[in-house]
Amino acid sequence: MAAKQILVVEDEKPIRDMISFGLRRAGFEVREAMDTRAARAQVADRRPDLMLVDWMLPDMSGLEFTRQIKRDPELRDLPIIMLTARAEESDKVAGLEGGADDYVTKPFSPRELVARINAVLRRVDPQVEGSVITFEGLSLDPVAHRVTADSRPVTLGPTEYRMLEFFMSHPDRVYSREQLLDRIWGGNVYVEERTIDVHIRRLRKALEEFGYDRMVQTVRGAGYRFSTHSE
Ligand code: CA
Repeated sequence: MAAKQILVVEDEKPIRDMISFGLRRAGFEVREAMDTRAARAQVADRRPDLMLVDWMLPDMSGLEFTRQIKRDPELRDLPIIMLTARAEESDKVAGLEGGADDYVTKPFSPRELVARINAVLRRVDPQVEGSVITFEGLSLDPVAHRVTADSRPVTLGPTEYRMLEFFMSHPDRVYSREQLLDRIWGGNVYVEERTIDVHIRRLRKALEEFGYDRMVQTVRGAGYRFSTHSE
């Protein structure tokens, strides 16, 4: 299967270079545009599989550009991840309402960005090759709903499975209990925050015999993080 092609729309060259380097190393084909005009030309020339759009661009805001793409019947199903230095919740909402498929806040690790790209690509096309998410010996197959540790099956309840899928798609970032509730249970369900701790405990117990419970990390006073290294 051909490498997925990502168009990086970012005017700051050092950041563009850093992103492109990380994506190429992860096996993506990368093209670059420094403003929305160049991005338009690139998309018309050959449609990418996904676009990373920075919020701050010289000729038009990334948010407005995303809105335009999502209003275009020819292009609206082109997945877009917005990049931004702004961590404000209201900006995030604006970005997602503008039509972005996901949202990554700077600074991010290349690994986190790759995981988010893969998550969006999987959502668009669940059959994409490489849809299995792997960290060390821990693998999750979102198509088959199967988790293995060192090639042995791991039995998880449905909530622990969803939690692990969320974590493995969003590594190296701390999520508060409230954010986890929102992302795993959905915003409209009333669940006590304590419930998270119960499911975290069950998830760790299931991973314990393989030693991968260390990847589900408590960040004191902040929440939880999935990571292969302790910080
Ligand atoms: Ca920028």
